[in-house]
Amino acid sequence: MSDTDLNATRRDVLKSGAVAAVGLSGGGGLLSTLQEADDSDTAGDAVTSFLGEDQVVKTACSPNCRGKCTLRAFVRDGQIKKVQPNIPADERYKRGCLLGLSHTQRVYNSTRLKYPMQRSSWSLKDPQPTKRGNEAEFERISWDEALEKIAQKMTTIRDQYSPKSVYFETGSGDSGLSGPMQSQLSDLFGGTQKSWSIDINTGLGFRRVTGSGLFNAETNFGEDWQNANTVIVWGSDIFASNLQQDASILLDAIESGAKLVVVDPVYTGTASKADLWLPIRPGKDAHVAMSMIHTVLDQELYDSSFLRKRTLGPALVNENTGDLVKTADVFPDGDAETPVAIDAETNEPVPLLPETYGNYALFGRYTTNGVNTHTGLTALERKAAEYPAEAVAERAGLQATDIRTAVQWLATRGPGGIASGYGPDRYKYGHVFGQAYATLLSLTGDYGRHGTIHASHPSGSGYNPGDFFEVGDSAPGTTSLKQSDIITAMESGDPYQIKMMYSQASNFLANQMPNRKRWLDAADNLDLIAVADMHHTPTVQHADIVLPANHWFTREDIISGSNHPHVNYRQPVHEPLWEAKDDYWIIVQLAKRLGYGDEFVHDKTEAIKRIVANDDRIDYDRGCHRTVPILLLRSR
Ligand code: SF4
Repeated sequence: MSDTDLNATRRDVLKSGAVAAVGLSGGGGLLSTLQEADDSDTAGDAVTSFLGEDQVVKTACSPNCRGKCTLRAFVRDGQIKKVQPNIPADERYKRGCLLGLSHTQRVYNSTRLKYPMQRSSWSLKDPQPTKRGNEAEFERISWDEALEKIAQKMTTIRDQYSPKSVYFETGSGDSGLSGPMQSQLSDLFGGTQKSWSIDINTGLGFRRVTGSGLFNAETNFGEDWQNANTVIVWGSDIFASNLQQDASILLDAIESGAKLVVVDPVYTGTASKADLWLPIRPGKDAHVAMSMIHTVLDQELYDSSFLRKRTLGPALVNENTGDLVKTADVFPDGDAETPVAIDAETNEPVPLLPETYGNYALFGRYTTNGVNTHTGLTALERKAAEYPAEAVAERAGLQATDIRTAVQWLATRGPGGIASGYGPDRYKYGHVFGQAYATLLSLTGDYGRHGTIHASHPSGSGYNPGDFFEVGDSAPGTTSLKQSDIITAMESGDPYQIKMMYSQASNFLANQMPNRKRWLDAADNLDLIAVADMHHTPTVQHADIVLPANHWFTREDIISGSNHPHVNYRQPVHEPLWEAKDDYWIIVQLAKRLGYGDEFVHDKTEAIKRIVANDDRIDYDRGCHRTVPILLLRSR
């Protein structure tokens, strides 16, 4: 709990009155006084203590959302009465949405799990998996009993099958230390975890061009969006579903004069604010991106300097093999790595060296050492010619002029980019779209300068935990399987049999599986499904042992945000309710029963201190001490 003094004093009242008085005296005075108020929280404490018995505790929101906002929880009589956004001193990072502000309902919700439970028809010897689901009845058990049974089952399965037969499912329901903790236990035990196999389609295609990107694509820091002159939001309703930093930085860009283009089949809230809306037919994203490439090449809107300096566009390609020509193919002292281009002045082959302003020919066919070649851009030009705007517009349900206008803005108005979302990502060939638009941005030179945008996932903060979560060389380590292999492992033992699942912060049966019935049938082959969650979710209804996790607001943690440069300290607002426990505690207790107790730091505060000590950009005592109401630890 906060150390705030709850007793109203005359001095407190005078202080809050002083804020109002300065407010009347002029803008500068008001601003500076509010700034001080934010830093010290004195005025807020004074007002609340004068009005009642409130405490205002700064904490943090921690879902699968890139905001990771700091919030202010107002507590009276030991209960959270309301939640408000915390306005940080640097207002560029102001945020908070209705989801975060509704945590009062979530903390005390009737769906919260209160006690450890076991499915009545389940036992260690006779799991009766077909009795899971809607008709399942649960009975309360003790924490000790629940953890003992899970540990016993894990040990039995390890002995009878393999440690890999225990699957550690972790979801995105908590962004604190619980995920790495579960992975650490899996590493020690030798279990199976899911490799990152969702949300990566577009990023994988993007990576083919840029060499980086996996989860969507990498892009500039959010603050830089205001330097963009054209933003094409593609398959993302930022104003509805990315209310945190994305929406405000997009508004900043628009305020600074950026043109907004929205490519979306639906007339979304974001589309309604666009200068140009392209109501594309679903699945035609790559076609439209290729058509934009065609327009840029056809109208010579490309950035020649960028193409020469930073791309393989001028590189020669062997027409017979499709391989890049290397200097070893052309020069006696060449190597097998360096590509070859044509000097535009001499028409002679030369090494193509990055980060130089060589006068390379961008287009053309050449005969080099008797081999027919063409430049990479010529190959692209030929391919893109298959996607003229008129033909693509007809297939995609668009106007050809709109396709051209959008890309003309992108190519001619200075820096800009494409904020792609999950719309095109969730298609089988979403990676082709990623590859196409990454190529388009290389034609327009939208990399490596202020105002370029590559995805609706601005870069954010992070911390370096050092070797805190690492296990020794003697540990068996985790086997990673794609999600599509997890289910076959459960169904038929391909590539090996999975017999048990420990799920944490994941409602996987409800919202992660495209074919829920198939997963439910596959789960019939599991001897134990243990689920740790805050709420009685559909997945919990299919569990054998249920572990009540406490809400974020009642567990201390550190959270790094994707859309701001801070690592947030999540301060507990009050004690955990009922018998709910922190996942950190649960993992440590399970580890102890499996013989790995010495591998973990049991006290979480101590763990946080040690983790933070690994990164000299953040400071526990400055940021986390509870009497200091500063929660933002700048990490970049
Ligand atoms: S934007 Fe995200 S982190 Fe911020 S309050 Fe909303 S849900 Fe929570």
